[in-house]
Amino acid sequence: MSNLNDEACFVCFCRSGYEPDLAAECEYHLATRNGYGYAKYEKGSGCIAFYTPTPALMPKLKELVFARQKLSFLTTLSFHDASDRITPILEFLHSLNSMEFGNVIVEHADNEQAKTLAKFCKKFTVPLRAALRKNVLQTRVQQDDKSWLHVIFDSFDGCRLCFSTANDRSPYAQGILRLKFPASAPSRSTLKLEEALHVFFNKESEKRLFNENMSAVDLGACPGGWTYQLVKRNMRVEAIDNGDIATTLMDTGLVMHAKADGFTYRPVSGHVDWLVCDMIENPYRVAELVAQWIQQGWAKASIFNLKLPMKRRFETVKEILSALRNKMRDKSGTIIEAKHLYHDRDEITVLVLPMGDFDESTQNCIKKM
Ligand code: SAM
Repeated sequence: MSNLNDEACFVCFCRSGYEPDLAAECEYHLATRNGYGYAKYEKGSGCIAFYTPTPALMPKLKELVFARQKLSFLTTLSFHDASDRITPILEFLHSLNSMEFGNVIVEHADNEQAKTLAKFCKKFTVPLRAALRKNVLQTRVQQDDKSWLHVIFDSFDGCRLCFSTANDRSPYAQGILRLKFPASAPSRSTLKLEEALHVFFNKESEKRLFNENMSAVDLGACPGGWTYQLVKRNMRVEAIDNGDIATTLMDTGLVMHAKADGFTYRPVSGHVDWLVCDMIENPYRVAELVAQWIQQGWAKASIFNLKLPMKRRFETVKEILSALRNKMRDKSGTIIEAKHLYHDRDEITVLVLPMGDFDESTQNCIKKM
């Protein structure tokens, strides 16, 4: 678990090209906790190795905007015999006196080169699981409260062994939640909001917060992918955009479309439960607008996208989130989470959820998220 310099090493996945942003983010969090660390990565690899002598201060995956997965590094293995890659893995785990893992994931970082390994990783999973179970190194059924083994193939000749811990991992291979595009949705953007709902909420809290009793304003709504997700949950939506909205959404009777500027529009009845916003606009302006809606009580909570600049991406995100936290400090128990989702491109998705504005049973449900 430690390397020769007695530093722990974490392996974190991100979108290819965002390695410097993730590295800067990890360094920043550690520095604010009087810790220290540094990253090594190849640009475009979709992965960083992060070394620190203070692993306990490492931020949780939930705190990292640019990380899709966070793993603790164990070792690197080279395979000299392509017909048996399982024995070296078993030998290493036996040498550690390893406990049973609750699951095993065979994966590769999300980059162009490693894509050639996808089929192999899938195929290799089956015999590896069988061998691990036979050697009492993996539980019979998946156990989420235990550590999981991650076997990361960088080529056919070698892999890195890592593990993830309960409550600090993405349960998906490569940290990617793959969603099927709903055939009747008006745009692929719909997957951004669908993924956000999966990532920010568990099933129970999502049901409580997005249902037929809830209303929303969708700024920058056209052609209607985000509105589609809300309508699917029987919510009433005011969809604001100068573009055209899908007629299928209008036919539901749940949508009111206004061709208006998102920066000056106000909700018809004075307030709604949710403000969602996917406007391609300056991210500082968008975050300020969201804060204004919540402070004024025009919306209780918000999910919105921030388009990232070409440079200083982490710096920009840090500044905006810190200003947002400052503005929300009078709102009791406000949850602010941000994530660079798989379906986000050069943008991130942010949740602002002031718990105090919801009834007690909803608050209890959110606390368990
Ligand atoms: N969320 C939409 C969906 O799922 O179909 C896609 C939104 S698209 C990425 C961005 C939209 O923002 C465009 O349709 C654009 O017209 C709208 N937009 C940009 N600036 C706006 C503004 N100031 N007011 C209203 N809409 C705006």
